[in-house]
Amino acid sequence: MQSEFIGKNSLKNIKEIISEFGAKKILLVTGKDSYKSSGSEEKLLKYLDNFTLERFFDFEPNPNIKDVQVGVNIISSFKPDLLIAIGGGSVIDIAKLINIFAVHVINEKALYEFVNQSSSVKKPGLPLVAIPTTSGTGSEATHFAVVYIGNKKYSFAHQYVLPSVAIIDSSLTYSNPPYIKACSGFDALSQAIESLWAVGSNEESREYSKEAIEIILSSIEMAVNEGDEKSMDRMSLAANLAGKAINISKTTAAHAVSYPITKFLNIPHGHAVALTLGSFFVINSKYSLNELNDSRGIDYFDNIYKELFNLFNCSSAEMVCKKWYQIMTNIGLDTDLKVIFSNKDIDYELIKNEINLERLNNNPVRIRPGQIESLFK
Ligand code: NAD
Repeated sequence: MQSEFIGKNSLKNIKEIISEFGAKKILLVTGKDSYKSSGSEEKLLKYLDNFTLERFFDFEPNPNIKDVQVGVNIISSFKPDLLIAIGGGSVIDIAKLINIFAVHVINEKALYEFVNQSSSVKKPGLPLVAIPTTSGTGSEATHFAVVYIGNKKYSFAHQYVLPSVAIIDSSLTYSNPPYIKACSGFDALSQAIESLWAVGSNEESREYSKEAIEIILSSIEMAVNEGDEKSMDRMSLAANLAGKAINISKTTAAHAVSYPITKFLNIPHGHAVALTLGSFFVINSKYSLNELNDSRGIDYFDNIYKELFNLFNCSSAEMVCKKWYQIMTNIGLDTDLKVIFSNKDIDYELIKNEINLERLNNNPVRIRPGQIESLFK
């Protein structure tokens, strides 16, 4: 179970949260530069004057196992009694990983092997307070974390990975530049849509998804283009709802394809997902009976599409696709994956080998051979 504090300035609850855990020594996991430049440091430290603090910040976005090792070593030597992760999805993910790894593994070799063995997690980590400063990943609400070994991406999943406390204070996101707001906003929107049609969805996750989609569609342009505070507040809430949705359902094909786009074409996560999701509206609408992965059947799935059409105020998958890429354009995101791919000297085989098959299996419709390649070429 997680406790959550949602709303502008909800960071003020942090002192009480810490005292409830009886913590004295706190490891802060933060971004390298954005922690200070975004004003998060100033806002947080005013509540932490009576505690012994150490800070872990020297890691790359999109956590890799070498950085996880450094964080685990810091926990071993500093011996905190609570962790606070304040930053984007990368910061929260690495905090989730080091928190669990530190209580289970002792040497570097074991650490590499542990990434594939989340089923052998036996103990919870320390109390972890997750405070997002982007409104996108919803990582504060999920029981998994992304980690790379070389170019290979793993999703480490266990119920103990879920942070003990989430503080969704939208004022911490106001400092995001428009491109980061656009990328993270589309990450949240994509998560909500993929969750809605995912094989792993249930009634609860679909309620979270629909609420998130509705909020984001009515707020994202004002949040990114005008920096409107009320719209950014709504985006924070929606990102958290989308996180809760994928925590149940997991994501689908657009996420499966996004990881190599980020890794090899150097496109931030949310933008990478959005590039193909528009096309998946159409791909997922054209299938024969034996291509439907979802055992709930055609009537059920038709109804999901009807709900999507209502949310987008459209009457066909092609219209939703067009509207999707139009919203991306309106907030300054490039939409043409073929152009982006052709401008890089990357062999398609590299992309193909890194597509996440588990996420493809969670797609409502089976993907035909060649369909993904045709998104790139
Ligand atoms: P990010 O954490 O990589 O941050 C992007 C950039 O924004 C960084 O340079 C960061 O310093 C900066 N930044 C963060 N907050 C800021 C602020 N308030 N003001 C100014 N700059 C700020 O990006 P993200 O999109 O939040 O997270 C992406 C990562 O999250 C990926 O690794 C992705 O795989 C992972 N992810 C995890 C989950 C999950 O449930 N565990 C879900 C989706 C994505």
